[in-house]
Amino acid sequence: MNKEELTAAVASSGVVGAGGAGFPTAMKLAASPEFVLVNGAECEPLLKVDQQLAEARADELAEALDLVVRALGAKAGILALKEKYHGAVEALSRAIRGRPALSVRTLGNYYPMGDEQVLVYEVLGRIVPEGGLPLACGALVLNVETLLNVSAAALRGAPVTHKYLTVTGAVASPATFRVPVGLPVAEAIAAAGGPTVPDPVAINGGPMMGRLEEDLSVPVTKTSKGLIVLPRDHPRAVAKRRGLGQMMRLAKTACCHCMFCTDLCPRYLLGHALNPDKVMRLASYGQTGEGTARAGQVFLCCECGLCEQACVMGLQPWRLNRELKGRLGPAVAKALAKKTPAAVNRFREMRRYPIPKLVQKLALGPFEALAAPLSDFPGQPRRVRLLLRQHLGAPCLPVVKEGAEVRLGDLVARVPEGATGAPVHASLDGRVETVDQDSITVSAL
Ligand code: SF4
Ligand code: SF4
Repeated sequence: MNKEELTAAVASSGVVGAGGAGFPTAMKLAASPEFVLVNGAECEPLLKVDQQLAEARADELAEALDLVVRALGAKAGILALKEKYHGAVEALSRAIRGRPALSVRTLGNYYPMGDEQVLVYEVLGRIVPEGGLPLACGALVLNVETLLNVSAAALRGAPVTHKYLTVTGAVASPATFRVPVGLPVAEAIAAAGGPTVPDPVAINGGPMMGRLEEDLSVPVTKTSKGLIVLPRDHPRAVAKRRGLGQMMRLAKTACCHCMFCTDLCPRYLLGHALNPDKVMRLASYGQTGEGTARAGQVFLCCECGLCEQACVMGLQPWRLNRELKGRLGPAVAKALAKKTPAAVNRFREMRRYPIPKLVQKLALGPFEALAAPLSDFPGQPRRVRLLLRQHLGAPCLPVVKEGAEVRLGDLVARVPEGATGAPVHASLDGRVETVDQDSITVSAL
């Protein structure tokens, strides 16, 4: 299969990054990288999708990586995952035998090892330019589940209709399920035995970067990775609920300009000119700072949230960075100079943040040990709600009408002409119940 055939199959199957912001994968595959890196770091505590898929589907992953490396004319494919995922490391090392272009690289147990820029440095020793992509230093990075979706698209023409996610925390039977895209998160939580606390909330994603979901009727999307159920008053839920205004007020009285947030920032440690303490200094004077000359640095922030854990006052520099990104707009991001640092910070190695320490700080210790094994999803979903925007780019346009009958895998929404995006497909056999500007709801036949 050549690059054009691969890209076309992946585009029409609606594959997007399964572990992040939903970048359409076909756009990535249009590049000519030197290395294809498979990101199996899964560094967010409690999430257990990629590490289990890497073990259970090691042969498929090796075959898929070989296919991508050949189609793109890359020099090598590297499966990168944490050394502590012993079963997955063994399975992948066996699976790549006889495939000379492939290798397995093990990583330390630090956060955020799965950040693409951190991963590229850890594996290749290359520094991604400020505001740049890994491709700028010859690397194309694909998440484990994304690679399986690429392979399904390329070898079987299969669209993305299902999603793996870990349901854990305060639930009776933590598990990692393959669920239809569009399933209400409440049904996924019920499948894990339901909440074990009286007033539960769920973090949609990892405890660091995921968002707090108060409304559990929201649907699973192509980028969902986990649901962490917690009591409403858990410190992690409380911190996520804090608004920008509240954080700014706290910063006024509490930011002591100690710089710990910068000292531990993974992008600063890569040598990038990101100084969250300086952004917070303005906040401590009651300003958001969008008019200042160096405000554009906030676009170097990956919103990993580590600065919050570094801060002795529990402040959230990442929240201010996110707000400023919105206020400054994409034109400022595009105008960044994209400088490549000559070297990483000389203290980088010793300042990497160990996961056990992170788990303790997040008060998630009792949940971290839960296994959340790969399990069949019990029961039959009655209804799915397919969002028209599950990816970066423009929302999709529905191609079905209310009352239409659809089969699993049928196209229900397409990418607008000339836009960036990924099509959406039916995730069960059913009838289209409603079509609105945000979603298509399909009820099972
Ligand atoms: S969230 Fe904080 S620690 Fe992470 S990259 Fe942004 S400023 Fe740095
Ligand atoms: S770590 Fe906290 S207190 Fe110190 S400079 Fe950063 S935001 Fe301010």
